[in-house]
Amino acid sequence: MSDRYTSFANTPAGRAVVKRLGLPEPLRLRRYQPGDPDVAGTVLVGGAGRLADPVRKLLRSLGAAIEGDGPYTGLIFDATGITDSAGLRALYDFFHPVARSLRPCGRVVVLGTAPQDCANPREATAQRALEGFVRSVGKEFGRGTTAQLVYVAPGAEDAIESTLRFLLSPKSAYVSGQVVRVGPAHVDQPKDWTKPLDGKIALVTGAARGIGEAIARLLARDGAHVVCLDVPAAGQPLSAVANDIRGSALQLDLTAADAPQRLVDHFSERHGRVDIVVHNAGITRDKTLARMSEDKWDVLMDVNLSSQERVNDALLAADLLPAGGRIVSVSSMSGIAGNRGQTNYAASKAGVIGLVQSYAPVLADKGVTINAVAPGFIETRMTAAMPIMVREAGRRMNSMSQGGQPVDVAETIAWLASPASAGITGNVVRVCGQSLLGA
Ligand code: NAD
Repeated sequence: MSDRYTSFANTPAGRAVVKRLGLPEPLRLRRYQPGDPDVAGTVLVGGAGRLADPVRKLLRSLGAAIEGDGPYTGLIFDATGITDSAGLRALYDFFHPVARSLRPCGRVVVLGTAPQDCANPREATAQRALEGFVRSVGKEFGRGTTAQLVYVAPGAEDAIESTLRFLLSPKSAYVSGQVVRVGPAHVDQPKDWTKPLDGKIALVTGAARGIGEAIARLLARDGAHVVCLDVPAAGQPLSAVANDIRGSALQLDLTAADAPQRLVDHFSERHGRVDIVVHNAGITRDKTLARMSEDKWDVLMDVNLSSQERVNDALLAADLLPAGGRIVSVSSMSGIAGNRGQTNYAASKAGVIGLVQSYAPVLADKGVTINAVAPGFIETRMTAAMPIMVREAGRRMNSMSQGGQPVDVAETIAWLASPASAGITGNVVRVCGQSLLGA
């Protein structure tokens, strides 16, 4: 979808007008193109804890420079050595002198220890403080800069490569202000980081268009065979996507009584397993609660939440998700912040978060991870249909002053689906350009 304001603001005349009037200045975000390195330029690493040295080693192995004067493409701070509030001064000491030395679309990553993993209350207090710092940097630095906090559990030091690659690369263009938790896990490093999903079988629901289509295309780019699922009415665009990416098309209404069994039959007969399940299919049926008919509530809850539960249960009961399996569900910012006219939708999307968080420990025993992504304003048919003022507010009220693209959600899902992301489970990652709404 076209965002004429962003196009205008990126012309020389537009830039001048926008500056003079103090309007939002959306920078054209740099996005990943095949062949791009995950990390380029100079990334400055500061702080002193258990991660600074391994991170420097990793960055060198990726071909990044880690010393020298700015401008920098990234700033990484290892805060795991901070054990009390006085120690937080180290954040100021590292970031203050270089706060204006980041290139456009720069990357800030702070590494910490989750408060529940800390040795004592003082350390936990200081580590919790990192969240406020990082979220403010995301709102303050501007020019397409993203800022994230990664809590790395003790023992998970070897499990962070996929996360650092993602957060430092243009793949995370629209992810900012997030807290990611990485736990200890045995990580299978991909032989080829440009094809981390080689040999994997993936299911993407709602793949005929929009975000689902982008997810299917990206998982195929990363090497997976993708089974693209959508309703029979979307059969034509569905086949076009599946053919284009050499995947397969499966016409199926997820609310049909036999849908779980048909999925079980499909995967057991054709592939013997399914490694990656992406629950993307979703609908809106907006109305204020007083005006909402019961069918609007029922059909929405069935598509957006109950069908995910039925499909997961059936695939797990049939033992089709092997160790190393990945489930990623698409939630929404509405599920976090709530939204007028969306009691049904927000309840379903908050339910998706509940599903992911409650299943994570259960599935950990099987070596399967389950995570959610929560998109904010993404340029799709769904958002194109909004009234213009609501649409403009959604587009601009975030740190990037623009809407995200379906590919931004897809890149985030591809990162979570990677075999190298074994340490990430029960996480909810917003793809919202750091929306001003919600936590
Ligand atoms: P979309 O309407 O363009 O695509 C959704 C797809 O799901 C369609 O192809 C549709 O046919 C399919 N689908 C619907 N019901 C189905 C069923 N019963 N069985 C099988 N397939 C079914 O929507 P989108 O904007 O691409 O959104 C994709 C997901 O992202 C949804 O879960 C949505 O709630 C979520 N989301 C979108 C945005 C946004 O800004 N676009 C923001 C937050 C969350």
